[in-house]
Amino acid sequence: MNKEKKNPETTFWKNPHTDTETPPLIILPCSYLSIFMLPVRKKARRDVKIFASAWAHALWILEDIMNNKLYEHPLWTIRHELLSPEDRIRVSYERAKVVIQTWNLTPEEIHTCSTRFWRHQQDPVFAIDPALANIVTCSLNLFVGTLYPLLSGRPYLKPLVEQALRGEIFGNLFLSELGHGLDIQNLETTATMVEDGFVLDSPTDGATKFMAPTLPIAGFERWGVVMSRLIVDGEDRGVHPFLIQTSDKSGMRPGVTNTCLPVRCGSALDYSMTRFDHVHLPSTAFLGKSLDPPQDRRTLLHAYIWRIPIGTSAIGMPAVVSAKILACIAADYSMRRHVGPPEERVPIISFRTQSLPVLYAVAVAHVFSAWMEQVQIFYMDRANAFETWISLGAVFKATVNRMAAQATRDLGERLGAQGLFPQNHTGILETDLRGTSIAEGDILAICIRLYTEILLG
Ligand SMILES: Cc1cc2nc3c(=O)[nH]c(=O)nc-3n(C[C@H](O)[C@H](O)[C@H](O)COP(=O)(O)OP(=O)(O)OC[C@H]3O[C@@H](n4cnc5c(N)ncnc54)[C@H](O)[C@@H]3O)c2cc1C
Repeated sequence: MNKEKKNPETTFWKNPHTDTETPPLIILPCSYLSIFMLPVRKKARRDVKIFASAWAHALWILEDIMNNKLYEHPLWTIRHELLSPEDRIRVSYERAKVVIQTWNLTPEEIHTCSTRFWRHQQDPVFAIDPALANIVTCSLNLFVGTLYPLLSGRPYLKPLVEQALRGEIFGNLFLSELGHGLDIQNLETTATMVEDGFVLDSPTDGATKFMAPTLPIAGFERWGVVMSRLIVDGEDRGVHPFLIQTSDKSGMRPGVTNTCLPVRCGSALDYSMTRFDHVHLPSTAFLGKSLDPPQDRRTLLHAYIWRIPIGTSAIGMPAVVSAKILACIAADYSMRRHVGPPEERVPIISFRTQSLPVLYAVAVAHVFSAWMEQVQIFYMDRANAFETWISLGAVFKATVNRMAAQATRDLGERLGAQGLFPQNHTGILETDLRGTSIAEGDILAICIRLYTEILLG
């Protein structure tokens, strides 16, 4: 058939599957359309049933880890998204305390990265409130995780670790600086040794510690491990960790200043720029290995921040849960939303354009869940070297964060106008997944490092 010569309005097109000619639907009378659509509708109903069971399974996987019923706690039943940014931040800190107390991880579980440590990372509360994930993971993984192995030589740290484990104080790790994001070898913050301890300074604007949240939170002390250049007798002796209290129950500690960054899209948290101006630290604040000049500064710095590669994997786990949540929300909307005349209404999930991205997201969520279990098993096997943890963490985080972020865009578009509102999470999760792609190991940087190491053998 020569299509060129036909009037486009009456042109029949050839169905490549049946080899029959099918009239264009747009010019058909409705009755013919109904007959033609009947098998399609039947198939759609069957597909919807199959889909519903896949969806129910996705929900079951979520429920499996929700036995703690945190979602019934008043802090989770309030309409968090309707609060002012200040109140949302406050609620996220209150939630953090409850989550820490509910999971009640022991320091050994955090230190050894036990099964419960990894399971706690998968709690859906973190995907629902990514700001909460940020607070808890910084306080437990980075702060407690850094301090706990030092306790045998520094028993005076024990009360602080115990307070952090009870959610009574919150801890941070101050690594990045405004002028030196990924370039951590060139940090400028200095800790100058004096007779009775150290004096901590941000000598330039570029030395301002960047992003770690430090706004004083009423009722909570805030502490942190600050990565600073040790200066002894004018000599630079490399970057080492120092313990500092940034705020007490009534405000910032003397010499520590906080400038809160603007509230971004996504979840609200008091991300900050933090500066130190002649902050006197006792000699016990030094958490490093030795005051002597290190032989290999780079290796030593990476040894100090050994909890970050663990955070790289841990932070990927809420991304897996986010993929599940997104699939559930998109499926729920697509099953609920119906179109058509009253006697023939069908859910929009019956359209291929709707079911494909939703089913794809469900499939991705299932595959990631299965993979996450294997990643966890790999970490539990003490025979696997720490370097292999770092490599697997890079692959896991890069893959799940990228694909979950893609799902937020693909599914967000399929939820119509309702997908734009924070109640449906897609927009918030997109920004937060981008944030977690940067925090605790920028995806690009860790992938470059991994490939370089693979190439170098
Ligand atoms: C949600 C969130 C929470 C955070 N929490 C903390 C915290 O608690 N404590 C803390 O210390 N920091 C924190 N950070 C800061 C984070 O560690 C830094 O944002 C991160 O190190 C990247 O630094 P940067 O943003 O300055 O980006 P840059 O260093 O400017 O990098 C931006 C981009 O430049 C390119 N680039 C830079 N260097 C290289 C290179 N060598 N090779 C190739 N490409 C390169 C890459 O494309 C990179 O993605 C947080 C960040 C986020 C987003």
